[in-house]
Amino acid sequence: MADLARLVAAIAARMAASTERGRVASYIPELAKVSGDHFGLVVATADGQEFAAGDADTEFSIQSISKLFALVEALAQHGDAVWRRVGREPSGGAFNSIVQLEAEGGKPRNPFINAGAIAVSDLITDPDDPRTGAGRILRLLRELSGAPTIAVDGAVAYSEAATGHRNAALAHFMKAHGILTGKVEATLSTYFHQCAIAMSCRHLARAGRFLMNGGIDPASGQRIISAEQARRINALMLTCGHYDASGEFAFLVGLPAKSGVGGGILAIAPGRASIAVWSPGLSPQGNSLLGTAALEELANAMGWSVFNPEL
Ligand code: GLU
Repeated sequence: MADLARLVAAIAARMAASTERGRVASYIPELAKVSGDHFGLVVATADGQEFAAGDADTEFSIQSISKLFALVEALAQHGDAVWRRVGREPSGGAFNSIVQLEAEGGKPRNPFINAGAIAVSDLITDPDDPRTGAGRILRLLRELSGAPTIAVDGAVAYSEAATGHRNAALAHFMKAHGILTGKVEATLSTYFHQCAIAMSCRHLARAGRFLMNGGIDPASGQRIISAEQARRINALMLTCGHYDASGEFAFLVGLPAKSGVGGGILAIAPGRASIAVWSPGLSPQGNSLLGTAALEELANAMGWSVFNPEL
């Protein structure tokens, strides 16, 4: 895979030189402090190799990428009962939209918009111990990436909670409709803390490996979720992983992927690779601008699209 090493280095060099970098998220004050100059890329391949370039080991706020691991945790705990609380359709709306929720009786469209993610957080939170939810996600991420130091960034969590009025509104609205069954405060605490988890591209790429491998973590041989659940999560990532730009991402890249407003994206080439990329500047829809460009280049060069007959 000498070619892949060269390709990853070349992509990182091109991205480092790019002058059109998007805008760093500013609606959560703590995220606005991050420099838009960063770029990191790690490709963890099915044969156990790792190709890294740029700021591969710098930690960043994983934000909505946590929604993926919260869903894994909820499916492992509750199985198909998860789908009584949250749907499986792309929303075509902004990540924090309220309007669709009201029109559809309080059941969120999918687990990757904020409302859906809060419903999932509710499922993994013990109402009497608000720390359980984020704790479960942390345990899973540490296990999958082999990095026991992964933690919540306290300043980001505080900033998230202090400015999270829209998310609180979504949660209370869903509570009124019986979609949330726990305590709203405990559920929101899980949500704010999971979004504030800090990870590097290297650890994120490692954490995604079970999704390229039918639900089994190739590093430990441990089954994390069933093969069917892994396939379905990949389908949701492809259709809903980039908010109202999910169609565009499928068009350009063609891989299941989940983005976060911290500028990270985790993408899965089934049977081939788990890829993490980070660049904090965002597109107007809240997805990493250079992260998307890098994935487009990588997927095209390697033929890694789920729509490629040879993948
Ligand atoms: N913590 C963010 C929020 O709820 C997550 C959004 C995102 O990454 O898209 O606003």
